Amino acid sequence: MAKYSSKINKIRTFALSLIFIGIIVMYGGIFFRNSPIVMIIFMILGLLFIIASTVVYFWIGMLSTKTVQVVCPNCGKHTKLLGRVDICMYCNEPLTLDQNLEGKEFNEKYNRK
Ligand SMILES: [Zn+2]
Repeated sequence: MAKYSSKINKIRTFALSLIFIGIIVMYGGIFFRNSPIVMIIFMILGLLFIIASTVVYFWIGMLSTKTVQVVCPNCGKHTKLLGRVDICMYCNEPLTLDQNLEGKEFNEKYNRK
């Protein structure tokens, strides 16, 4: 079975990587310290990445209000579902809210209309 991760975890990873990209870009600006304009451009770009990641974190917060909290039947922990099908955040158990999809193989396509 292909490895899936919970959607919120995926977005969180994306937000975290944006912060790292921002730091790397800002760090790259140090190599251009002889030309202040280029350095400032790098700093602003890096800052934009970090701002983008805070926007994504805010978006996660918004999404979290739309999730349904369920108890995972596999590990017994409280996990959040987003969309018709999602994965348990702790044990990667596929979960669904739709009775028609129960027992079927996990497929992210079920979330599309
Ligand atoms: Zn679980």
